[in-house]
Amino acid sequence: MPPFLDSFSAFSRAVSGAFGRPWHPFSLLLVMALWLTTLGNLPLWRAMWALTETHGLRTGLGLLGMGVIVFTATTVLLSLLVWPLWRKPLGVVLLMVAAANSYFMTAYGVVIDPSMMANTVQTDVREVRDLLSGSMLLVLMLGVVLPGAWWWRQPVQQWPAMRLLGRQLGLAAVALVLMMVVIWASFQDLASTMRNHKSLRYMVNPFNTVYASGRLLVGQTTQARMSLQPMGEDAAMANAGVPASPPLIVLVVGETVRAANFGLAGYARDTTPQLRQLQNSGELTYFSNVRSCGTNTQVSVPCMFSHLGREAQAKNDIPYENLLDVLQRAGMQVLWLDNQSGCKGVCDRVPNASTLTLKDPKLCPDGECFDEILLRVLPERLAELDKARPAGQPSAGTVVVLHQMGNHGPAYFKRTPADMKLYQPECRTNVLQDCPAQDIVNAYDNAVRYTDHFLGETVRWLKTQKRPTAMLYVSDHGESLGEKGLYLHGMPYMMAPQEQTHVPMALWMSKSLQKQNGWEANCWQKQAENALSHDHYFHSVLSLAQVKTRWQQPELDMFSACKAKPAQRG
Ligand SMILES: [Zn+2]
Repeated sequence: MPPFLDSFSAFSRAVSGAFGRPWHPFSLLLVMALWLTTLGNLPLWRAMWALTETHGLRTGLGLLGMGVIVFTATTVLLSLLVWPLWRKPLGVVLLMVAAANSYFMTAYGVVIDPSMMANTVQTDVREVRDLLSGSMLLVLMLGVVLPGAWWWRQPVQQWPAMRLLGRQLGLAAVALVLMMVVIWASFQDLASTMRNHKSLRYMVNPFNTVYASGRLLVGQTTQARMSLQPMGEDAAMANAGVPASPPLIVLVVGETVRAANFGLAGYARDTTPQLRQLQNSGELTYFSNVRSCGTNTQVSVPCMFSHLGREAQAKNDIPYENLLDVLQRAGMQVLWLDNQSGCKGVCDRVPNASTLTLKDPKLCPDGECFDEILLRVLPERLAELDKARPAGQPSAGTVVVLHQMGNHGPAYFKRTPADMKLYQPECRTNVLQDCPAQDIVNAYDNAVRYTDHFLGETVRWLKTQKRPTAMLYVSDHGESLGEKGLYLHGMPYMMAPQEQTHVPMALWMSKSLQKQNGWEANCWQKQAENALSHDHYFHSVLSLAQVKTRWQQPELDMFSACKAKPAQRG
């Protein structure tokens, strides 16, 4: 046992010794409720304190009222959940939940809602490693290890099962009544505070986690009970059969790049010199008014590839196939290459590959790959795709999705190779608050510039292909870099700041594809400043690939002005 634990247990023995006998089960439970209410909810109390400038009697009473509500609610929760058999482990789990939530809320300004929970469940080792830090370990030590060790060692009176059951349910009832009374008494103030500051309700530990897990579980079981709904059985190539020359369309799914720091969007820094050059030569269109579907990858990526828009997707429990299934059904070859934490189920039924296991010494130092790895493996993967095609079956074209690591935070500095760090000094830690604001922006902008380089390389490579080609880039969501005290992303959409939802989108298209599609040059140009969103993605990519299906909604097709008029041609 480490020395501090040793002296700590001696201390706790002394304390329980002072009482002389094992704990009454209720007392121990109330100690836990008190801890969770006070220290376990520090970010909540800090946020509520910061709501008003004048800290008079009213603020004090408001905080006190809220404190009693959280305490009684926690007591109800504990009375219902904590039984002798799993009393000790469950207590430690609650300490962990409170400490981890508090850390992330304080360090990054995030709140714990269902989509954040989904993100957490789907995370991978790389993402966790990016978040680990000394201050996080300190919080876990003070919030979990020390109180957890104490909790674990406390002797508790043994009660007959029925007696404990009855009493504990009684305690829950009393706490519930007390909670109702306080809510009723402070309703006016409380209701308006909660209405005006919606994020507060996602800050109450451990209820945020209980609620989010419950929502997630219900959603997943509903989805699991329903069978996958097939889509696009009617999908076919628009020009009745195989195009003269099968196109190659590259869809780049960007990561965490916000429009605010994108050179083409008018940012003071020229973070997109290569795209600018393409734009100046009339080859590339930047779409300046695009909103993301969600504020995290877990929501945005499936939403982009879904036929449902943001609002329908948020309420939807039916598991549908997606854009990639439709393209594949129309006879196109589809490939998903991933340099991130996976495709979130989007690529389940199409050929896909991850760069996770690759060991390219130049592109993957330290076990993580720069996005250019995607272009390095692309040719061989395309060759494999061709080999897998049944003999004699002509290709209707290929759609490749490149899922970038992009600007994935908080360790932005890890996203750029050493020779591409133009803006200095860079924040070189994942504890963003430890860095001057400008250093965070420098590291972030270097990563945007690297995405620009990656997209430039992609277009250069596409130009060497002897077939019609196109590249459509759009970021999955934006990022907060300290504005309004927020970092990273994942705010509930309703209260998300513009930084997290305004994303860059750009299109490059070869002349030969425009010609083959029968489109007027730059027929999409009118859309460049129109309000667009991820809602348009599914329906527009279908047009780009010349696939028709009854699932396409023309009003969400950003190429609707491009439609060839076959009767007037020839
Ligand atoms: Zn993302």
